[in-house]
Amino acid sequence: NQRVWVLGDGQLGAMLTHAGQPLAIDVRPVDIMTPSDAILPLGANDIITAEREQWPESALSLQLSSHPHFVNGPVFSRLADRYSQKSLLDELAIPTAPWELVDDNTQVSRLYQTYGERVLMKRRTGGYDGKGQHWLKQAEAGEIPADWRNQAIAEQAIAFEEEVSLVGVRTREGRCVFYPLALNLHQDGILMASIAPLSRLSHLQAQAETMLTAIMNELEYIGVMAMECFRVADSLLVNELAPRVHNSGHWTQAATHMDQFQLHLRALCSLPIPQPQVNFQCVMLNLIGIEKDDRWLSLPNAELFWYNKEVRPGRKLGHLNLSIHATEQLSGSIQALQQWMPAQYQAPLAWILAEFA
Ligand code: ATP
Ligand code: MG
Ligand code: MG
Repeated sequence: NQRVWVLGDGQLGAMLTHAGQPLAIDVRPVDIMTPSDAILPLGANDIITAEREQWPESALSLQLSSHPHFVNGPVFSRLADRYSQKSLLDELAIPTAPWELVDDNTQVSRLYQTYGERVLMKRRTGGYDGKGQHWLKQAEAGEIPADWRNQAIAEQAIAFEEEVSLVGVRTREGRCVFYPLALNLHQDGILMASIAPLSRLSHLQAQAETMLTAIMNELEYIGVMAMECFRVADSLLVNELAPRVHNSGHWTQAATHMDQFQLHLRALCSLPIPQPQVNFQCVMLNLIGIEKDDRWLSLPNAELFWYNKEVRPGRKLGHLNLSIHATEQLSGSIQALQQWMPAQYQAPLAWILAEFA
């Protein structure tokens, strides 16, 4: 049996495990966040991947990341730091929000002059779900906090029309395969919902694929990568890259014959990769900071993935994939969710209904 170890044991690792089962790939997520001296029984033919970009150094993480079959090793540190990630996009002449490093000499007045009256600072490392962001607003005389210097980049605020993402895979031979673009809604920096595929986005598909192909080729990347973009008219600006399976690709679990988790495993294990077939449209709704509600299971078109984590405000605890066989059925499910879900869900649910109105 092929064994694949995963740095990290969150929901992405669990879904990789689930996807490995029908292919008899033995996926083993590893908790590398809890300090421990444990050493794993790694075999010479085992393959190592990661479900996160960064991890603390320990005997365990070192054992995994120094294995000769740790795939994409150098990519993680390059993409985990926004400074080197944005530099890579600039080197490849891939459009991205104009930016610069915030260091000891950065003057806030110059930032407002260069980028406008709202400037977004992002921590170079460790940020996720919009954590690690700090808006500078000229109207409020926003200043750079001392502990953000040398730790952050500053970006122009993009007045985008909407956000989309592309999830694709690159094989060991360098062949790239993609899913259709997903439309994403973020609220307070955190992904709330995705919809895919959408025919109204199909004219952007080639543009997006060209960009992600260039990035994966430059990195000699193997496996699934996600590219988050802002759409401004008919142009895409890359917001950020994730060298792993991605939340905005969860819709593929319901709507395709081969989801992103299986695609990643196939690429790692050098198995054949045909173009994934998309069987129908899907809405993915993230379940954030709310208790599990078994009424969701009564919806005729819903698949629930509950991550079994402790409920905390703002924390991703699960997702619902709503497959779309008829728009009336989808509308019915969304209307039921409007009754059952708290206030912060009303805007995302209305956004979904509007897309299919
Ligand atoms: P993720 O959980 O996706 O890794 P993150 O914390 O790494 O999120 P980003 O993806 O960089 O952060 O930003 C989160 C969201 O904040 C974006 O999806 C977008 O809605 C908003 N945002 C980010 N950068 C900009 C920008 N330059 N202009 C306007 N909005 C932005
Ligand atoms: Mg991110
Ligand atoms: Mg993001």
